[in-house]
Amino acid sequence: TELSTMILDKIRDVPDYPKPGVLFKDITPLLADPVAMAAVVEELAGLHEVDKIVGIEARGFILAAPVAYRAAAGFVPVRKKGKLPAATLEESYDLEYGSATIEVHRDAFAPGDRVLVVDDVLATGGTAKATVELVKRAGAEVVGIAVLMELAFLKGRERLSGVDLHSLVIV
Ligand code: 5GP
Repeated sequence: TELSTMILDKIRDVPDYPKPGVLFKDITPLLADPVAMAAVVEELAGLHEVDKIVGIEARGFILAAPVAYRAAAGFVPVRKKGKLPAATLEESYDLEYGSATIEVHRDAFAPGDRVLVVDDVLATGGTAKATVELVKRAGAEVVGIAVLMELAFLKGRERLSGVDLHSLVIV
């Protein structure tokens, strides 16, 4: 589609970041393009009827906030451990080396809130899966996950069975 072509055109491959052998997808050219950003925000805001948009730290915040505004929904941050000031729920997940922990405020959702989770890139799916678990434990319903780009070779989609995953571009 026209939108996926525009996104592909504005996401830059950076070799050997953050470490040798990794080809990092850099979304900053997309963020800097107001026409492409408007199209992305419009698309994501129209996916589901929701009460809250969850953004995953940190690039997810940049996308989720304008989507929430456009959808007239609330914005809820899911952050790395230790960053949220009030009482939290936490969820840990495995990384290639070691593990990571993310948090959400315990009172971020009203019971049964319908939620769309937004992030920039789906890689192994570990972050998205942990976020879905966290949002559910906080009492909300995850109606979908939306990402700009899905890296199919990492098979993240397989870890997210049962959730509606919407990727604007699959590479
Ligand atoms: P996963 O948990 O799916 O392996 O990794 C996804 C998380 O790491 C997302 O929050 C995403 O922002 C970040 N990430 C992993 N690889 C890339 C990449 O190539 N480009 C960008 N922009 N983010 C990435």
